[in-house]
Amino acid sequence: MSHTVEILSVGTELLLGNIANTDAQMLSQGLSELGLNVYYHTVVGDNPQRAKEAVAIAKERADIIITTGGLGPTCDDLTKNVLAEAFGKKLVFDQASADRIRSYFTRTGRTMTENNLQQAMLPEGCTVLTNDWGTAPGCAFQADGVHVIMLPGPPSECRPMFRYRAMPYLQSLSEGVIASHTLKLFGIGESSMEAQLREQMNAMSNPTLAPYAKEGECELRVTAKAPTDAEAQALLKPTVEQIKQLFGAKVYGVDVSSLEEVVLALLKEKGMTLGTAESCTGGLIAKRLTDIPGASQSFRGGVVSYTNEVKAGVLGVPQPLLDQFGAVSAEVAQAMAEGARRTLGCDIALSSTGVAGPDPDDRGNEVGTMFVAIAAPGGTYVRALKLGNRPVRARLRTQAASHALDLARRHLSGLPYEDSSAR
Ligand code: ATP
Repeated sequence: MSHTVEILSVGTELLLGNIANTDAQMLSQGLSELGLNVYYHTVVGDNPQRAKEAVAIAKERADIIITTGGLGPTCDDLTKNVLAEAFGKKLVFDQASADRIRSYFTRTGRTMTENNLQQAMLPEGCTVLTNDWGTAPGCAFQADGVHVIMLPGPPSECRPMFRYRAMPYLQSLSEGVIASHTLKLFGIGESSMEAQLREQMNAMSNPTLAPYAKEGECELRVTAKAPTDAEAQALLKPTVEQIKQLFGAKVYGVDVSSLEEVVLALLKEKGMTLGTAESCTGGLIAKRLTDIPGASQSFRGGVVSYTNEVKAGVLGVPQPLLDQFGAVSAEVAQAMAEGARRTLGCDIALSSTGVAGPDPDDRGNEVGTMFVAIAAPGGTYVRALKLGNRPVRARLRTQAASHALDLARRHLSGLPYEDSSAR
């Protein structure tokens, strides 16, 4: 049976716009990982009457209700009271939860008020979801054909409570195993990826496809349910292959965390070294590479050559080139990468130069005009970028750094630097 989920977030702050409903976002992402369909996000304030109405509606249209917030002592345990009442359950005192709350206060050196023990009142017969990250325990129960899961509001509690308490509970609801793989793509926008997949996405129920976009990259999670892991993997395999074929070299990895991780793994595999010469990215490429433990095996170092003096003086970019074409040019990007390769004594060097904004440069180059280059044993290649459609400085720099890393990834994988189709 396929379950339908409603997320019911309780909190007046959410309605006032003081905070964003990040709990619901996080839960939706996690639930799609489990292959569960979230049909509704509902937000209600700390108002018992309206909360009751919201629960009555959710009860009709969902068979899993997950609540966030309203478990604290300050709002009279609104969520538990309302849910317990809607499902005809009494709240009963749970000694084990009371002991945990008491010891949480001792451990964190804070004073407990009697109010806090309210949090140990839980719906009779529920599964207690113990909270190791705060005081309010969560709980889960089934009644009237609906599963109810209550989680605390603070994201620092809600996230681990979902991952370590609710997810195992939800997994136990579905017979069999849920397995997933995540494909990472670079060089394609989310809308274009979705458009190419729309028909498949609509037609598929097992496995399911869930696309995400972040920081100029796209992710595609493929999730399958089956009686055993081997069967789930067998369902996943053809879909993963099909997607890889569809998007070709734009897929830079499956179940990998980032472009930089892939680049470092390839360098290590080939016993090669890398260096950087960065202008518009200001060291971001080097930062991203050195965020990964063990980078020193392959990453030799980088030069942040922000001024023309450093480009010429340290990297040996010829002054006439700078004068003729300007710092933001394919010619200078090429000379920077070649200079870094020479100066840093590495097998491969990456460079970046461009206008990160907010203003165009003195030669009239628009914000988002950028060049990234790779100098490698087989020669140098420059990728010209026009990233001006959403010219936010931080975003442009991240994008340019990703493009440079993408060149390294393609080189090391023996792929062409550009796809034949438009980027
Ligand atoms: P506590 O046990 O700390 O009282 P609680 O379960 O009662 O937690 P709330 O009192 O509703 O939760 O919210 C506590 C804080 O958690 C809020 O001030 C807000 O900062 C954050 N929070 C609550 N709900 C959400 C949400 N849906 N998304 C993001 N943050 C939230």
